[in-house]
Amino acid sequence: MKFIGAHVSAAGGVENAPLNASEIGANAFALFTKNQRRWTGKDFTKENIANFVKNCQAQGFTAAQILPHDSYLINLGHPEADKLEKSREAFYDEMRRCEQLGLTLLNFHPGTHLGKISETESLQRVSESINLAHTKTKNVIAVIENTAGQGSNVGYSFQHLAEIIKNVEDKSRVGVCLDTCHAFAAGYDLRTKEACCATFEEFEKIVGFEYLRGMHLNDSKKDLGSRVDRHAPLGDGFIGLEAFNFIMNDTRFDRIPLILETPEPERWKDEIKMLRKMCN
Ligand SMILES: [Zn+2]
Ligand SMILES: [Zn+2]
Repeated sequence: MKFIGAHVSAAGGVENAPLNASEIGANAFALFTKNQRRWTGKDFTKENIANFVKNCQAQGFTAAQILPHDSYLINLGHPEADKLEKSREAFYDEMRRCEQLGLTLLNFHPGTHLGKISETESLQRVSESINLAHTKTKNVIAVIENTAGQGSNVGYSFQHLAEIIKNVEDKSRVGVCLDTCHAFAAGYDLRTKEACCATFEEFEKIVGFEYLRGMHLNDSKKDLGSRVDRHAPLGDGFIGLEAFNFIMNDTRFDRIPLILETPEPERWKDEIKMLRKMCN
């Protein structure tokens, strides 16, 4: 069973996200639980929460099918103490918001060292940040997204993901979301069946599929190893459709949110249909 969807709009209230997802034929979705370009968000009202829960139930979405994404401003690997603290506070708040909605996953980009500390130090800060958030919350899983390795972002290699997980105390509350565009831009080939086999075998060896909690399905406007994060509609980029066909027919990707973050939202409905048709 594949949970396929897209990162849908929550404009007008989080309770609208499950309705927007349903409209495009999705059985999974991602959302921002607050404005992703701000540090703080308005608290949910009782109605927001009740309607979110009600709409999810009515449309058949369980927590396992929903992958919230945190704010773009948060940098859990920040080199400067005061800014790191601000990010940690905001991350804790994102986890708290997920808990209020009854959600169990929180997807985030690990962080950026800004050229001021080493990658290793930055990765250690990310792990510590997760440990701190865990002490303040009960059951949300911190889902680390691999990055394209743009600028001074950490998290572009499977080794980085494993390094973060290694220093997290509660391993049951840490996971990974693999973004196909980011992996490809970071140098992991996905263009053929053989390339997919090799890339995911490496993932299994270094990180382990037991940590895979979600996928972002995006084609890439930039070529292999470009380290540039530009998403393309499926089949319109340098990755091509074979990768998505591979994922749709591999049970290791069952029962986790598989989320489109492709440009051109008007195509999501067709992209979802196409992915479903690929499943044998
Ligand atoms: Zn992504
Ligand atoms: Zn991206």
